[in-house]
Amino acid sequence: MLQNKCTLKKTHSIISWLSNILLAGILLSIGILLTGCKDSPLKDNRPAREITFALHPFETMSQHDVSDVYSALIKIYPSVKINESIKLPNGAWYAPRSRYRADSLIKYLSNKTPASHITIGLTSKDISTAKAGFADWGVIGLGYCPGKACVVSTYRLAGKDIASQLYKLCLHEWGHTLGLPHCAVSTCFMRDAEGKNPFNEETGFCNNCKAKLVVKGWHLN
Ligand SMILES: [Zn+2]
Ligand SMILES: [Zn+2]
Repeated sequence: MLQNKCTLKKTHSIISWLSNILLAGILLSIGILLTGCKDSPLKDNRPAREITFALHPFETMSQHDVSDVYSALIKIYPSVKINESIKLPNGAWYAPRSRYRADSLIKYLSNKTPASHITIGLTSKDISTAKAGFADWGVIGLGYCPGKACVVSTYRLAGKDIASQLYKLCLHEWGHTLGLPHCAVSTCFMRDAEGKNPFNEETGFCNNCKAKLVVKGWHLN
């Protein structure tokens, strides 16, 4: 009887262990495409139309991808520049998962960002942050809301039109840095990825998000 109970207990703990693994697997697989948005204590009292967006490629980021996304972004906002490529900071390396911590990259870039600028770091390496109760969660982008810097990664982008996905991702994180939260409109660039790749469904900023950006000097039709 005791043996039966023990066997039953053992079976239950194996089942529970397997369920936990499965749950973690599901959460991981649905979570990998999330973009992050974190509230920031920074008050967004910067005057409209006086901000320069600086693209800051990290080593290994394709220069071709950077110039492609620059050409698309400059049509939306008149003050965009490309900074020289720099090394990824060692302090942001997260050895247990062989990737870089997005929060550390943002902090690093924020410290380098002059007044009236917003920096976007671009990397081909995998990036992560703490999210949904997980200490280290892979993301495609992270921006503080509002903030002086944000970061995007091409590592998890997949499918036909990477250039278009990178463009939409940059606009999404820029939106966060200017104080825009996630948006419930499914076609809006500010929607939360919610674990999927939303880019094919996104057609532009919705009227509500657009209005907030137009007053900041964005050229949106
Ligand atoms: Zn977001
Ligand atoms: Zn919207």
